[in-house]
Amino acid sequence: MTDKVVIITGGSRGIGRAAALAAAARGFRVVVGYASNQKAADEVVGQIQAKNGKAIAVRCDVGIEADIMALFKAADAFGTLGALVNNAGIVGATARVDQMSAERIQRIMTVNITGSILCAREAVKRMSTRHGGMGGVIVNISSVAAKLGSPNTYVDYAASKGAIDSFTVGLGQEVAAEGIRVAAIRPGLIDTEIHASGGEPDRAHRLAPTVPMKRIGTAGEIANAILWLISDEASYVTGAILDVSGGR
Ligand code: NAP
Repeated sequence: MTDKVVIITGGSRGIGRAAALAAAARGFRVVVGYASNQKAADEVVGQIQAKNGKAIAVRCDVGIEADIMALFKAADAFGTLGALVNNAGIVGATARVDQMSAERIQRIMTVNITGSILCAREAVKRMSTRHGGMGGVIVNISSVAAKLGSPNTYVDYAASKGAIDSFTVGLGQEVAAEGIRVAAIRPGLIDTEIHASGGEPDRAHRLAPTVPMKRIGTAGEIANAILWLISDEASYVTGAILDVSGGR
């Protein structure tokens, strides 16, 4: 597995970045997807290459199908696809549902749900034994928001992650006999810049006392779970949803 390509959407920052570095350290050829921050993506690729790892950065807004097609085309030229990490995800500004615009809701669903399903579609076409592939793994990054619902914060985001959980169960069963394992991780409060993009940079730290373990998690702790799911050590795991949340 480890000489194969892993595509990580949103691999330029946060959890995706940590997963990219961890995957490269285990010998994967890493495709670092990013939406707009080329500097951050280049920095990840540079760090990997400095340690003799293999990585490329590819701009891909997963809300745009043509970008997804280009991402997988670039990955095809880089080697045999072994894994997809559907990590790219966005939140809107903190709001009640009675304050949300249709445009905001549609954008979140398009990026978080449609983008993940379209990336999985392209991965299945390449990895499924039904299509002549050699199997592989898809890891979807959900959120504990899927079960908590995120009232007064972003229920649209929470609902999009609920969809990811259902998608994981269904796709896992659909391709289980075709050499592909599918799993999801539900991170809890993780120390990344996503909270700032929701308008509250300090959100995770503020809520840390509510976590049973009394602390927020690191991107590296989520990356460890991603790498385990991708590895053969998780060879009998599919359709599963793993909370990595300090008990939240
Ligand atoms: P982050 O720090 O905000 O990083 C987001 C990453 O996704 C960046 O690489 C960004 O690229 C990329 N991205 C943003 N919009 C994109 C789009 N439309 N298409 C493709 N890539 C896009 O986020 P994070 O906290 O690491 O979150 C990663 C995943 O974990 C998300 O699915 C999120 O919902 C989930 N999650 C996070 C937490 C948490 O507390 N952090 C908790 C639960 C779940 P650029 O660098 O180009 O902007």
